[in-house]
Amino acid sequence: MGATPVEPAIIRRMIPRMNIYYVNRNAQSNGDHEVHVLGCSFFPAWQNAVTLGPCPNCQEAIRKARQHFSQCNGCAYCVSECNTD
Ligand SMILES: [Zn+2]
Repeated sequence: MGATPVEPAIIRRMIPRMNIYYVNRNAQSNGDHEVHVLGCSFFPAWQNAVTLGPCPNCQEAIRKARQHFSQCNGCAYCVSECNTD
């Protein structure tokens, strides 16, 4: 009777885990617009956070951020693998 229920753990494995990235509307002193993920201690004020949506990796997040601001960089804390300082 009815469909076989799928274990939530199996569903979680099927959906790639994607972070939701944001870029700071305000540039740093060096002109970089930093890309962050939620929960970072250096996350900008909400009115300055431009959402980039879920991205499979930070390279994709930076690519999206560059559609908003020409000079972007990953946050040294939460997006360190895409930080080039
Ligand atoms: Zn950050």
